[in-house]
Amino acid sequence: MSARVNLPLLPGTLDAAGRPATLGVMGGGQLGRMFVHAAQRLGYFTAVLDPDPHSPAGRVSHHHIQTGYGDADGLGRLAGLCAAITTEFENVPASALQTLSGCCPVAPGAAAVAIAQDRIEEKAHFTASAAQSGVTCAPYAVLETPGQLQAVPADLLPGILKTARLGYDGKGQVRVQDRAELAAAWAGLGQVACVLEKLLPLKAEYSVIVARGWDGRSVAFAPQRNVHVDGILAVTEVYEGNIPVVLAARSLAATKAIADHIGYVGVLCIEFFVIDDGSAGGALVVNEMAPRPHNSGHYTLDACDVSQFDLQVHALAGLPLPAPRQHSPAIMLNLLGDSWFDAAGQARSPDWQAVLALPGAHLHLYGKLEARPGRKMGHLTLTGADVAGVKAAARRAAEILGLPGLESA
Ligand code: ADP
Ligand code: MG
Repeated sequence: MSARVNLPLLPGTLDAAGRPATLGVMGGGQLGRMFVHAAQRLGYFTAVLDPDPHSPAGRVSHHHIQTGYGDADGLGRLAGLCAAITTEFENVPASALQTLSGCCPVAPGAAAVAIAQDRIEEKAHFTASAAQSGVTCAPYAVLETPGQLQAVPADLLPGILKTARLGYDGKGQVRVQDRAELAAAWAGLGQVACVLEKLLPLKAEYSVIVARGWDGRSVAFAPQRNVHVDGILAVTEVYEGNIPVVLAARSLAATKAIADHIGYVGVLCIEFFVIDDGSAGGALVVNEMAPRPHNSGHYTLDACDVSQFDLQVHALAGLPLPAPRQHSPAIMLNLLGDSWFDAAGQARSPDWQAVLALPGAHLHLYGKLEARPGRKMGHLTLTGADVAGVKAAARRAAEILGLPGLESA
């Protein structure tokens, strides 16, 4: 076990073996990879725990522990290496984070991650913090027993049935029109714990990313406007005038209030819906939260003076949290494996030559060896001096790569 460290863990700090202090991350996906890059830029060593030998973060880290997330030996090795540990996905067992926190600072903590892992807990938490945050979630019912299925109020239909746990990118969700479809969908999901949410008339979707330190102080990025296609984020647009000022202010305040309510430490992303309620701007509804950097915050790497991953490192290590400043309008396009196949389903290489010739194009590929439809392979951020130029470049990139979502952005 490493000696208990005192925060801040300043860059350049050496460990007992004379090596730069090591920051650890549970999970080796692209979010972990970008955390590792940010940590290494400050001179830290990094350690990744992920069973996949080809994991995007494991490949670029000083240490890669290839065990399961609950493996006592793996967790012991990680704790032995690291001065502080974070997570890059919410389905890390909360008990593993609890165990690690006995050895070194862990942020976000097990309790916060446990809330984000379970839609039932998450909604209960949103409801509990509504007085402070000023927002509520979509009308919903918990579905854990056949009795609860019978008792579902009629006004929740049509709705979306979502598994309480392990859902992401629209997986573990079924849209249902009526009670018969609801019963069939729940049976199809194996009658696991679910929530049924009323299907809302969405005008727009936003997300807000906040970084909160051990001292309770927080900084946030400007709210992002997101477009999802088939439940997966396709486009994020961030520039002045893209979100009504009132809704931007309310979503920012709500995000900070929710983070405060759970004493959150680290980077937290909260997703919001804007629904048509007859008012000019529409009403804000809180959807879900991610206890980590978020796909909708990837534009911060190229359009802001500090990125969401920089702030993840700062928050974890107890370093100052500078308020981020966006220096360029930005549009981020997600690159799913679909772009690696032509219309006939034949494998192809996307036309990077043409994409990289576009002004303000920042291509990020995550080093995944196999492209599959729906798999997040990378993202492309377009930046520029003015919104019109960024939009033109984004439209051109979408054409070249055959990407959806921009037409409704
Ligand atoms: P995930 O964990 O897969 O991101 P979400 O709950 O965010 O799950 O749902 C994915 C997407 O499905 C949302 O971004 C939104 O576009 C749509 N969606 C989810 N819930 C609702 C709802 N109650 N009404 C309308 N659309 C919804
Ligand atoms: Mg979501």
